Amino acid sequence: MEGLLEGGKTGKRQWIYPLIRKGPFYKWRSWISYFYLIFLFAGPFIRINGQPLLLLNFIDRQFVILGQVFWPQDIFLFVLATLVAIICIVLFTIAFGRVFCGWICPQTIFMEMVFRKVEDWIEGDAKKRKKLDAGPWTREKIVRKTSKTFVFIIISFLIANIFLAYIIGSESLIKIITEPIAQHIVGFASIWAFTIVFYTVYSRIREQVCTLFCPYGRLQGVMTDEHTLVVAYDEIRGEPRGKIDRKHDAPGLKGDCVDCGLCVDVCPTGIDIRKGTQLECINCTACIDVCDEVMDKIHKPRKLIGYFSENMIHTKEKPSFTVRMMAYSSVIVILLSVLSYFIFTRSDLDVTVMRSAGMLYQEQKGGYISNIYNAEFINKTDQRKSFILKADDPSIKIQYIQAPGVMEKQGSVKAVFFVLIPASKIHTAKTDVHLQLVVDNKVVKTVTTEFVGPIN
Ligand code: SF4
Ligand code: SF4
Repeated sequence: MEGLLEGGKTGKRQWIYPLIRKGPFYKWRSWISYFYLIFLFAGPFIRINGQPLLLLNFIDRQFVILGQVFWPQDIFLFVLATLVAIICIVLFTIAFGRVFCGWICPQTIFMEMVFRKVEDWIEGDAKKRKKLDAGPWTREKIVRKTSKTFVFIIISFLIANIFLAYIIGSESLIKIITEPIAQHIVGFASIWAFTIVFYTVYSRIREQVCTLFCPYGRLQGVMTDEHTLVVAYDEIRGEPRGKIDRKHDAPGLKGDCVDCGLCVDVCPTGIDIRKGTQLECINCTACIDVCDEVMDKIHKPRKLIGYFSENMIHTKEKPSFTVRMMAYSSVIVILLSVLSYFIFTRSDLDVTVMRSAGMLYQEQKGGYISNIYNAEFINKTDQRKSFILKADDPSIKIQYIQAPGVMEKQGSVKAVFFVLIPASKIHTAKTDVHLQLVVDNKVVKTVTTEFVGPIN
């Protein structure tokens, strides 16, 4: 086997020099990655109803997903969406293994479809890269290594900018870029901090993100089973492996694997898929492409390595959309439907009311008892809104200590107020009060809050 790993027996990290082979799967992955990269880089600038496609502003606790704004008050929706996403990933993994890692994960896309291609372009293929690394620091090596570092830093810088745009929004990013650095020290430092992180990940840490650090990768063992479709080697067909020796090989003595080692040479995580399904396999399909190439050359059927479940190899179970997969898919559809229902039926105008902590009731003129409340009014629309807060019972009055004014578009406003109830209407220590938020003469939300009073 022509191994392109090094340092294996020394206890040091094996630096991997994967060969690139442009088979059908690689071409598909390339097309998906082009689409994905365009989408990823354009994402912060795409607007839906004036809102970004995706904004995860943890600093100001503002989140926008597909143009829908989520405020801290919508946290339950955010938690629900996160839960749904986790369940979807788990169910998808049970059915289809680590396919997400090979086809969609940004780590793989950037590593294999961006940085690896740049490296291949500047330093040459795997053999040349290995030779270059092992050789002395000649002028050529200095030029190639410097060029690669320079291009890697530029790409890392671009990714850092986009990454930040998803957190602070494209407008804020443009300000950091176009205005004097002194006005945006933190933003500027963040861009360079992310640049260093991305550069380190893609130039040094590389596949170890998938094999050592990624928790999703570590969980594969408990999520997959003998029905899960993964990239696998058909050992029944391939073994016993061995080089072709047409003169001495008796028909049927050897399996179809010619032990060329190419499936190991192309593997970006440096594993030998013939040893069985391993946690390190990111299902990138590189070994399928290269083995198909070998099978074509020796006139054997393709897919000695392919998408198989353990049962497909050992019990010849047919690949099909099984009842189990249908059940998982149904659960995913139901969860997504429930989530969509909550998202699209939530109100664009909202209010939260809380009785001031530690305060009891006050006796007011005219036979009223009062409690103090804090409220926050939220306007998720693109228009300024004036509003009224009133009780559903006309005998209950509201008196502002701090009046809220109007709700600015995409804004929130706070208020502090008394709720006054005629003492004659209070019969228990705690009374429920129903407050209505009225906008454009329409009750858009009713909240129930607790009123503390004397027992008559
Ligand atoms: S590429 Fe195919 S034939 Fe070559 S060693 Fe791997 S499994 Fe065997
Ligand atoms: S074993 Fe094959 S599919 Fe898995 S990571 Fe290696 S090359 Fe990719």
